[in-house]
Amino acid sequence: MLKFTEEKVLDVHHWTDSLFTIKATRSAGFRFVNGQFVMLGMSVEGRPLLRAYSMASASYEETLEFYSIKVPNGPLTSRLQHIKVGDSLLVGTKPTGTLVTGNLVPGKHLWLLATGTGLAPFLSIIKDYEVYEKFDRVILTHTCRNVADLAYAKFIREELPQNEFFGEMVKKKLVYYPTVTRENFKTPGRITHLLKTGKIFHDLDLPPMHPERDRVMLCGSPEMLTETSTLLEEMGFTEGNSGEPGHYLIEKAFSVK
Ligand SMILES: Cc1cc2nc3c(=O)[nH]c(=O)nc-3n(C[C@H](O)[C@H](O)[C@H](O)COP(=O)(O)OP(=O)(O)OC[C@H]3O[C@@H](n4cnc5c(N)ncnc54)[C@H](O)[C@@H]3O)c2cc1C
Repeated sequence: MLKFTEEKVLDVHHWTDSLFTIKATRSAGFRFVNGQFVMLGMSVEGRPLLRAYSMASASYEETLEFYSIKVPNGPLTSRLQHIKVGDSLLVGTKPTGTLVTGNLVPGKHLWLLATGTGLAPFLSIIKDYEVYEKFDRVILTHTCRNVADLAYAKFIREELPQNEFFGEMVKKKLVYYPTVTRENFKTPGRITHLLKTGKIFHDLDLPPMHPERDRVMLCGSPEMLTETSTLLEEMGFTEGNSGEPGHYLIEKAFSVK
């Protein structure tokens, strides 16, 4: 049976009509590796209703953070979006997932490619100072339909580089590349298109991806994962997992029902 603990909601922030963030208490015994997910939810008519959620907080933080979609009529999120400070949040006790740096063979550049709420596990990873010790460059891309959906942009650009412990490494090594598909924006388009055409490498003044140098983590829609992994395989990248480290890793941002 799935075990969970009851946490208290500390803060709720609504970014748009369809995106929000929940911060909650963290039980002392809850341990995870940056990039992992856990079952999260609430009690509905006395029974737990849980879904997979990536931790957006880092493993050293005292509180937990989750970044969520609001699916119209979604069994969990149509309710979760109304959660308030002080309410209970159910958090599973067994975090898991493939998007951990230990599942990658050593490399120089780490690419974190996200669409939508696929950003969540990468928020935990870009707050992990060890990532900046392991890699020379960390490139985070976030593709959304609209500019307003680029949640956390201000945090990534302005707050993280001021971190008192590892802000200097962030300034030197972290590159943030947001892209938007349905509105005018300075960097428009889908990530697969930007990779295929090489525009992203030109924009960032970085060499095209190569399995000798680059490591990639993908978290997004099923289509984005299929298209990008096909592209990477064509370039000679091999997929890794907890049994066998590889050049790239995949996690679904959601399952299609
Ligand atoms: C490994 C993993 C990690 C996940 N991490 C997160 C996370 O950090 N944040 C988060 O919001 N969701 C995440 N999800 C999706 C989450 O588990 C739920 O599907 C989501 O909360 C909606 O729940 P629901 O019960 O309201 O609707 P569901 O019945 O679960 O979903 C209904 C439909 O909504 C769509 N949908 C669901 N989730 C999303 C999404 N995130 N973005 C776009 N469309 C979606 C899909 O078409 C799905 O079939 C993750 C899923 C997986 C498999």
